[in-house]
Amino acid sequence: MSQLQRIAIAPSQLQQGQILLTHEQQHYLLRVLRLREGDRFIAMDGQGKWWLTQLVGEQGQVLEPLLVQTELPVSITLMVALPKGNGFDEVVRSCTELGVATIAPVLSDRTLLNPSPQKLERWRRIAAEAAEQSERSFVPTILEPVAFNTALSSVTRHLSLGNSQKYICEARGNYSHLRDCLNKKQMTTENGQETIIIVTGPEGGWTPAELESGINVGFQPVSLGHRILRAVTAPIVAMSLVGAAYEV
Ligand code: SAM
Repeated sequence: MSQLQRIAIAPSQLQQGQILLTHEQQHYLLRVLRLREGDRFIAMDGQGKWWLTQLVGEQGQVLEPLLVQTELPVSITLMVALPKGNGFDEVVRSCTELGVATIAPVLSDRTLLNPSPQKLERWRRIAAEAAEQSERSFVPTILEPVAFNTALSSVTRHLSLGNSQKYICEARGNYSHLRDCLNKKQMTTENGQETIIIVTGPEGGWTPAELESGINVGFQPVSLGHRILRAVTAPIVAMSLVGAAYEV
């Protein structure tokens, strides 16, 4: 079963037991992978559901739902100041593999990149591919890039996010290690799931005013160790630490 090809579908593609494949998916399954009539693959809707599916003509016939338990028992949102170049691609890919629930790209005072609208589509595609590859049952949500202060306001507006554990990673200063803070806290939202929000900065780091704004809305400044990590490495390390602390 685990060797079967996985295809991420939109929930609307499932209709009366049939998966209506897009032209792109038909091309991939029939021409690239050379699947034949009756061959099996897995369709995943990115929202927790997988189905064992059989190729019938150019469409998928659902055989049975599958149970997958690959998600972390905690919902993690990463707010990441966009790194320069294509660095964010790697953040999306690796953090999806590590189990992130939501990634919010943010533009901070020292962010160098001004992303084009096509970037968001590209990041969402990378997240879907990485979720397929890592056998996730959920495809992480990639939000539209917004200014750091706007992202902070939306955190304070949402009650459930206001109650979550919130950390801002700061490369300099004598702050507790994220690993030690995670072990001490236990908070849940209305739906019973623990949520953690972690913020990481750009190449030039946070300005003092940004750090203060984060602290003012409840973000605890934390360290990721004694070395200065690249803007791309920091969110991946933060995700690894949370995964290691919470994975059961
Ligand atoms: N130019 C900044 C400086 O020299 O202080 C370093 C910025 S670092 C390349 C990019 C971001 O990664 C930081 O803003 C922080 O959020 C995170 N980061 C990197 N190393 C870290 C560490 N050791 N502890 C906590 N956060 C770190």
